[in-house]
Amino acid sequence: MTDRFAIDGLPPLRDVIDAHGLAARKALGQNFLLDLNLTSKIARQAGDLSNTSVIEVGPGPGGLTRALLMEGARHVIAIERDARCLPALAEIEAHYPGRLTVIEGDALTQDFAALAADDGPTAIVANLPYNVGTALLTTWLGGVQWPPFYVSMTLMFQREVAERIVAGPGEAAYGRLGVLAGWRTDAAICFDVPPQAFRPPPKVTSSVVHLTPKSAPIACDVAKLETVTRHAFGQRRKMLRQSLKPVGGADLLDRAGIEATRRAETLSIAEFCALANAL
Ligand code: SAM
Repeated sequence: MTDRFAIDGLPPLRDVIDAHGLAARKALGQNFLLDLNLTSKIARQAGDLSNTSVIEVGPGPGGLTRALLMEGARHVIAIERDARCLPALAEIEAHYPGRLTVIEGDALTQDFAALAADDGPTAIVANLPYNVGTALLTTWLGGVQWPPFYVSMTLMFQREVAERIVAGPGEAAYGRLGVLAGWRTDAAICFDVPPQAFRPPPKVTSSVVHLTPKSAPIACDVAKLETVTRHAFGQRRKMLRQSLKPVGGADLLDRAGIEATRRAETLSIAEFCALANAL
């Protein structure tokens, strides 16, 4: 390790990774960000964090965690599956006493609402492991409780996934994820991050997406919405009377006031909700 220090008084991330032997593991979706200017830019997309707790999934060596704390997050709860990262995270904890809580574990099995309870307004900010990113987002969007436990989500995905999240009717990327995200949130791509910003570089460009929950999305049962979008987009080139046959076909479409000859990609989110409500 060198005796140089980064802008937050901690060692540069490159040195942290080397000192703790954090060779990236593909199976854990490990592509680390080394530039604190970039991680600060991501943290700032979450807005003013001074009165907010942040849940971060996959802090790794702590590049984004450090940025969140530097940018003033009141408290960061960071969930990391790779025990090799814990000593590096303990150094950050010591540098920001009382402001960082690290949980060693699998984000897929965490009760996030319970973590956020009693911690004031909570934002989710993460450079997500690619292999579990969509599953986590679907869980956070698909909860029975609405408004949810978070005030916003600022998340890094592969560009292709980011495009699916923000896509609307008529767009090639429009599908189940776009309906779910668009139904319950306002979602936008903030900026792209090129592969070279990561160590090791992934094969594709990444994008930061910011999502804020709508206070009053169209009333609709999330499980039923999931059912109709799964069937409709399962055969996206077919007419809906065909793709929706297992859940009522033409009759269901008639009850929802939607022409049976239309295709999934032309339906608005309101029309998908009408289908779910007619189910
Ligand atoms: N936040 C760091 C950064 O921006 O440099 C690391 C991001 S890296 C893309 C993803 C991180 O998520 C890794 O540290 C990895 O170990 C962790 N991770 C992978 N699967 C996980 C899971 N199921 N639960 C919690 N963390 C996980």
